[in-house]
Amino acid sequence: MTLNSLKGTKDIFWPEIEIWRHLEDISRQVFNIYSYREIRTPIIEYTSLFARSVGKSTDIIQKEMYSFKDKGHRQICLRPEETASVVRAYIQHGALRHRKVEKLFYIGPMFRSERPQAGRMRQFHQIGVEAIGSKSPLMDAEIMLLLNDILNKSKVKNYIFKINNLGCDKCRPHYNDILKKTIKPHLARLCSDCKKRYNLNVLRILDCKNESCKRIVSNLPIMADYLCSDCKQHFEKLRKLLSKFKIPIEIDTHLVRGLDYYTGATFEVVAKNLGAKDAVAAGGRYDKLVEELGGSAAAACGFAIGLERLISSISEKDKDDLVGEQRKSLFIYVVCLDEKTRLMGFEILSELRKNNICAEMDYSGAECHSLKSQMRQANNLGAKYVIIIGEDEIREKVLTIKNMESGKQEKIAQDKLTYFFNKTAVKK
Ligand SMILES: [Zn+2]
Ligand SMILES: [Zn+2]
Repeated sequence: MTLNSLKGTKDIFWPEIEIWRHLEDISRQVFNIYSYREIRTPIIEYTSLFARSVGKSTDIIQKEMYSFKDKGHRQICLRPEETASVVRAYIQHGALRHRKVEKLFYIGPMFRSERPQAGRMRQFHQIGVEAIGSKSPLMDAEIMLLLNDILNKSKVKNYIFKINNLGCDKCRPHYNDILKKTIKPHLARLCSDCKKRYNLNVLRILDCKNESCKRIVSNLPIMADYLCSDCKQHFEKLRKLLSKFKIPIEIDTHLVRGLDYYTGATFEVVAKNLGAKDAVAAGGRYDKLVEELGGSAAAACGFAIGLERLISSISEKDKDDLVGEQRKSLFIYVVCLDEKTRLMGFEILSELRKNNICAEMDYSGAECHSLKSQMRQANNLGAKYVIIIGEDEIREKVLTIKNMESGKQEKIAQDKLTYFFNKTAVKK
């Protein structure tokens, strides 16, 4: 039996891996500019961490967690998302915190045992930030500007930030009551999931995709009409900031996230060519979470980008443009005419690499392959130059260098080799 990767997981290798790494690099640059520092948390955590933060009634906890007992009978899981882990680490290592507002970013795999379908994987990857310790709408604006920068630099086009205000612990309970009262007469017509949500988390009914639920939802009162003055002011300030900095937004009064910890301003980024249902990124405020997980009260906000979705929202041409720069790097292939010159070829190769010049030669045969076969290899690998080494070259201590674009060939003294290529690199 052949062994394959698990359903819902995939191997990522060259050339696809280039765009992955490039997007990670872009994100790291932007995080650095905005003064976010990296955090790496473990992939395994206690299951209770997510039950307490993401929420017991959510799909993630009910259906999608990789949760199991380890050999010590501890209930542990593969992390389904990262916010709870970061907050856990923030609380656990209080003494190590350096700043009043701790701004952190992460890049890594998350796990959900969903039924694999287009665009959804059981192991998927997120790039995200968490900013803990600020109530200011400037903080919300900063993370959205940062996200906007990453999307622009990644050449994502036609996207929009859908935003909504989910209220706080002062105003949301009242709105929940209003919702319940208004929905109650229509309860029988809701889908089976929404019937459960009615008691567990009535807000989730608002973003149900079921047609019959949608019809009921369209006539429900909206949160915006029930916000307390703090929430209203915060949201108004944020809206003004976003319009000042030209962030494309659209108010979506039915936007709720599939995680219970969100409060206040919440958003999703939708790229039009992906279809409306899949957000490229999503985030918002979670002002109560730090306290709920046992820390001292700290307002916070953050977002996560789905890396797979980010990649699928970039056109093939733009992907080529993004990684093209890397492919243009000076690449040299060393060709040896026979077995006797192979060792010299290997020495030249090592010399180039020691000088940070990207170089390769052929080891595939026990004996040296023909000139023609090696030249074909060089061409396939996109070599800009080929260095040809034969007995004449060894005797005369020279190297024949062929420019693969122009076809021009020249001889240079062996000890001028790195000088030649450094000069060439500068010219580019
Ligand atoms: Zn409020
Ligand atoms: Zn429903």
